[in-house]
Amino acid sequence: MDVAYDWNSLPVPSHLREFEARWTQRRDPLAFSGIWRFHSLLPFAPPEQVVTIGEGQTLLQEANSVADYVGVKPGRLFLQYEGMNPSGSFKDNGMSAAFTHARMTGARRAACASTGNTSASLAAYCAVTRLMKAVIFIGSGKISYGKLSQALDYGALTVQIAGDFDDAMARVREVSRELGIYLVNSINPFRLEGQKTIMLRVLEALNWEPPDWIVVPGGNLGNSSAFGKAFMELKELGLIDRVPRLAVVNAAGADTLYQLWHDRRVRWNGGHPPKETIDEYFREMDERQAKASTIASAIEINRPVNLYKCLRALEFCDGMVCRVSDQEILDAKAQVGAGGIGCEPASGASVAGARMLRQIGAIEENERVVCILTGHQLKDPTATVAYHTTDQAKFNEVLGSRGVKRASFANRAVAVPNDLAEIVKAIQLYS
Ligand SMILES: *Cc1c(COP(=O)(O)O)cnc(C)c1O
Repeated sequence: MDVAYDWNSLPVPSHLREFEARWTQRRDPLAFSGIWRFHSLLPFAPPEQVVTIGEGQTLLQEANSVADYVGVKPGRLFLQYEGMNPSGSFKDNGMSAAFTHARMTGARRAACASTGNTSASLAAYCAVTRLMKAVIFIGSGKISYGKLSQALDYGALTVQIAGDFDDAMARVREVSRELGIYLVNSINPFRLEGQKTIMLRVLEALNWEPPDWIVVPGGNLGNSSAFGKAFMELKELGLIDRVPRLAVVNAAGADTLYQLWHDRRVRWNGGHPPKETIDEYFREMDERQAKASTIASAIEINRPVNLYKCLRALEFCDGMVCRVSDQEILDAKAQVGAGGIGCEPASGASVAGARMLRQIGAIEENERVVCILTGHQLKDPTATVAYHTTDQAKFNEVLGSRGVKRASFANRAVAVPNDLAEIVKAIQLYS
């Protein structure tokens, strides 16, 4: 399902620059919001129904140390830091839109199955606005404390199912139907409407001049789908004349899109994607009982719900798909961290992917590249600490088990005796 507008009957700006005037009205929460400042490009809700908790105050940072790592010229690499959102990930972009739609339907409860950022985001919207009660379904597998702690702290009803994420997803669908609960999982098309604005903020930060590349991690493929839709609409409305190329990066342990794209040559094909080929792929995956596995938990997904929309985006944006190992993800993440903006492992995939596309010559050293950092560094401190640790057993437990062999850019703590002279000596030696 897709949200479509009859643009001819709607007021749209004649130039993107017109949005800048909204800044002068920023005491109005709808002008302050990084989503609803662009309301006329996602006009599905009347203003009085719109829900905002101040999301979208994000940063596009020129990152020269990361440019060097990726292999592009200084001033050519930018990090779009979505970790600055109220709940610490880009999910707030989509949630403010889906939550607004939930309110329009008169829902009193909203639910999702998620072990991560979606639940943290939903819990935050419910807690701040008090418009609805959040119901969160989690499996009994490993859960990042950084994310679970938010849902608990914000007072969401947290239902723990004896099963895995897929079981939780299946149950939340049934329960939502039975009890009339509004579902905010990734298949919800209104989430994508909110996520379109990430691209509007990128364009705004670049003085409305489209970059050459947008690089984004691919999990459920909501972001890539939303970015493509944003550019399709901007082009249709004559608000941009050039469309950036889109690169979607899978983790090697969760590479459905990569497999379909490269090995089975699946394409959107002008609206006629090969459904049989795709269905057959999933059948084979079930037969093998394949499970997604990557340290980047936010993209540890084998059945991306927005697959078709992502294929559409890839076609429109002349896109590419690549795949990176957990080793590459963590090394790239460490480079991002060393540049002063941390991110969670899934976000590191975008930088690792950009580096790979540079190495194969797809990205040129002069091109302007925007990597999306989808989530905050503190969302998954376990992976970060294990990477930098001096404790080999800890490293092996968290990372070695995933085939990560070395921490190429580790910044290790220095152990010293509790003695002034020794401490002074260590500081002089290491700094
Ligand atoms: C949800 C999430 C992703 C995956 O995004 P999709 O839109 O599902 O592809 C990536 N990174 C982080 C931090 C996330 O929370």
